[in-house]
Amino acid sequence: MELQGDIIIVATRNKGKVMEFSHAFAPFGKKVVSMFDYPNLPDVVEDGETFSENALKKAKTIGDAIGLPVLGDDSGLCVEALDGAPGVYSARYAGEHGTDQDNNLKLLAELEKLRLGEDTELPLLSPAQFVCVLALYDPATGQHIETRGTVDGWITSQPSGSKGFGYDPLFYLPEFERTMAELTIEEKQAISHRGEALRQLADKFRSED
Ligand code: IMP
Repeated sequence: MELQGDIIIVATRNKGKVMEFSHAFAPFGKKVVSMFDYPNLPDVVEDGETFSENALKKAKTIGDAIGLPVLGDDSGLCVEALDGAPGVYSARYAGEHGTDQDNNLKLLAELEKLRLGEDTELPLLSPAQFVCVLALYDPATGQHIETRGTVDGWITSQPSGSKGFGYDPLFYLPEFERTMAELTIEEKQAISHRGEALRQLADKFRSED
């Protein structure tokens, strides 16, 4: 697959993702555009049961509508004590119109019900993993490539930090002794699920050369 031109179209309306992709592609001289830049795009119904299905559905729906290669990102948080929830429902955990803050409060409320962390000094409630699946789809050939990145951490009962987005303030990284929302965008990119999926995508392009 070839990515010609100097723009990358990402099938998202999530401002946090747009910012991270823009930062990641800038060194390659590529400008990221998103669904905010194209009026009248069809809605993507995220009804897949896996990150992989949803990532491809986003890329394919928007790629076919625009007629150019499109990158789809489906990502979310899987919390061990909640059997992997919110998972593919991460964006709408607190309801269709819930904000990031609503989702974070709902997550803490669900974990509180389990009365975790009561016998320890640490505010760490459960191991958790962020997952990101990227699908790059080319409508000219109907083909796509997919990559997947993960990062392990813990859900903390003490949200901290104002960078990043989504569940970042609740995602504690023991090796950094900080939450994901306390990392700079460069630090997050170096270790995050999205950063890892992007590096794998770059590797695939390199190995095609
Ligand atoms: P999607 O648009 O269905 O892929 O929604 C992904 C949701 O997962 C976001 O709305 C966030 O709640 C969460 N999420 C995905 N990636 C991140 C991240 O890097 N940090 C924090 N939350 C994330």
